[in-house]
Amino acid sequence: MNDKAIRDRLLKHGKELFRAPKQLIRFTGKVKADSLLNDLENHPHAFVLGCVMDRQIKAERAWLIPYLISQKIGGFSMKRLCALSAEDVRRLMSEPEPLHRFVDRMAVNFYSAVQRIALVYDSNAASIWLDKPSSAEVVYRFLEFDGVGPKIASMGANILAREFKIPFADYYSIDISADIHIRRVFGRVGLCAAEATVEQVVYKARALYPDFPGMMDLPCWEIGRNWCKSRGPECSECYMNDLCPTAKQNKRGLSKRSA
Ligand code: SF4
Repeated sequence: MNDKAIRDRLLKHGKELFRAPKQLIRFTGKVKADSLLNDLENHPHAFVLGCVMDRQIKAERAWLIPYLISQKIGGFSMKRLCALSAEDVRRLMSEPEPLHRFVDRMAVNFYSAVQRIALVYDSNAASIWLDKPSSAEVVYRFLEFDGVGPKIASMGANILAREFKIPFADYYSIDISADIHIRRVFGRVGLCAAEATVEQVVYKARALYPDFPGMMDLPCWEIGRNWCKSRGPECSECYMNDLCPTAKQNKRGLSKRSA
């Protein structure tokens, strides 16, 4: 019963975010880098390459990589990128300082993604999401890039649908991207066990809202980042506190201590 109330609260906020007018997405907090990543019209590959880089380092740092490379090569057109050899990319990503924690692996993934966009999508990465494809098709196309797993593939499709307002035929296959914030929130609000696996969280979200499991992604992530911190959740500020068993437990603990 409580699952439904929690789901409805998360979905209410998720739907507000989904319907909100399109705004500049702040991937990095740096104006020029974000402008490049938001420019789906002229540089759709920048967004795709940002997704490919978003692994095992802070997202803000990963999403900066397309812009930093554009600075080094004087632009970010596919023509310019296609002129780079695998060794050029490795050098650009590792000198004078590494742009990624796993720079050699990520340089290979970056190079391979450029080649894939050139060969499969005729240098137009927007073909990945044009013409109202199904969500499964878009997630599958992201999964075809080297180094992209289900979490990033769903994240890419979710950003396209929710933030860029790209129309899809359906949203069934956009899963929640169960990162550390989302797993913590699912555990604390009682949707899953505290130590639930990524798969458990993904399937729980599917069970709760099969039409669009990823609709709960950003609301949970925001709760995790803003209030439901790993040490010391700020329950009094959180809009889930009247439904959340952890908040109630913490409140009981506090009133016992002050009695
Ligand atoms: S009410 Fe507290 S424990 Fe529950 S989700 Fe919000 S911050 Fe986390």
